[in-house]
Amino acid sequence: MSDMFDYDGFLTKSIQKLKLAGNYREFTDLERYAGKYPKAYDHTNKREITIWCNNDYLGMGQNPEVVLAMKKCADEIGVGAGGTRNIAGTNHPLVVLEEEITSLHKKESALVFTSGYVANSTTLRTLGSMLPDLVILSDECNHASMIEGVRFGKCEKKIFRHNDLKHLEELLTEVEKGRPILIAFESVYSMDGDISPIKDICDLADQYGALTYLDEVHAVGLYGEEGGGIAQREGLEERIDIIQGTMAKGFGVIGGYIATTKVMADFIRSFGHGFIFSTAMNPPTAAACLASVRYVRAHNELREKLHTNVDTFKNMCADVGIPVMRSTQSHIIPIFVGDPVKCRQISNRLMDEYNIFVQHINHPTVPRGTERLRVTPTPLHTEEMMHEMIEALVDVFGEEMLKDGQLILEADSIAAA
Ligand SMILES: *Cc1c(COP(=O)(O)O)cnc(C)c1O
Repeated sequence: MSDMFDYDGFLTKSIQKLKLAGNYREFTDLERYAGKYPKAYDHTNKREITIWCNNDYLGMGQNPEVVLAMKKCADEIGVGAGGTRNIAGTNHPLVVLEEEITSLHKKESALVFTSGYVANSTTLRTLGSMLPDLVILSDECNHASMIEGVRFGKCEKKIFRHNDLKHLEELLTEVEKGRPILIAFESVYSMDGDISPIKDICDLADQYGALTYLDEVHAVGLYGEEGGGIAQREGLEERIDIIQGTMAKGFGVIGGYIATTKVMADFIRSFGHGFIFSTAMNPPTAAACLASVRYVRAHNELREKLHTNVDTFKNMCADVGIPVMRSTQSHIIPIFVGDPVKCRQISNRLMDEYNIFVQHINHPTVPRGTERLRVTPTPLHTEEMMHEMIEALVDVFGEEMLKDGQLILEADSIAAA
């Protein structure tokens, strides 16, 4: 027997290693109360808490119109799609949702996937494997779902330094003339909160005949006059060939999409395995997504309130010296810790002593040495909650950490490295 592979032994040892490094993930069992977000019940620790790290950035997951749309659709149509898009799964709410997303991004067409992850990995994989001799230029900080798509596409890839136009151009000049090129990047980066130079990247793409692929997952719903994202805010939607987004964050439900030209959508629809070979999004979910996108488009005051709260909270942090990383240009507020064990301890203390939930962010989500808390205020966080949060942070960070202004600089230089 001893010459056989010890499966459990291998699994246990791998997990042990994670634990020793302080990177083992533990999930908190939460029950949000409809209408009371950001309050929730924590079943793991048996208490009511305030959530400060959720990606339901606008609280749309509990919006009464969205909830009603889902219930109503379930009553009328039922809960299942019943098949893939090709085999009787293309349900009417889903078709209307694709039209809504097309119009949100002022594109010709849109495709909905079961998640943003699947949208990225399927689209990039399909292009990588089908466009003859494609080169993908990918920002080094791109999300795991894009990395997976690029990898599975098996085409040539070049990684450019984060938001580094010079490096991007250098890599573009290396590509033989006439080859197809795709530049894949994000608008708001989810861990540093920084925003990419979309216009400059589009200029380079034009100059070198490249396609642009923009992940707006952390921006849709939140930026632009109708919540179309950063490209919308900057009037650049037309210049992006493929805009990718999610309905799971700013729109508060679930599901991902791409918005693009008619012919590109037809191509991905026809050749993308993750689109064709997976059961279509179910009607109540599509109805909820549709209600949410419509609501968010029409309610600019939600966005205004979000950004007011973000500014207020950033100012409150600055006043007491909480080390907010200077990278942030968005609603994502990363607070630097720089040590995995300390980061976990701080997060645990916030929960244990203050009933505040901020998940610690450790490697491999962020580079080692840049461990942080990632705080995301919403329009529903009250001023009182913010004061509680600041008081708690001041306590758990401790005096010596708050005094040291260097910490912030250090965090940014590590993040940029
Ligand atoms: C969360 C995320 C995704 C995946 O979207 P889901 O809808 O959650 O699958 C894609 N890109 C980025 C940058 C993300 O943060």
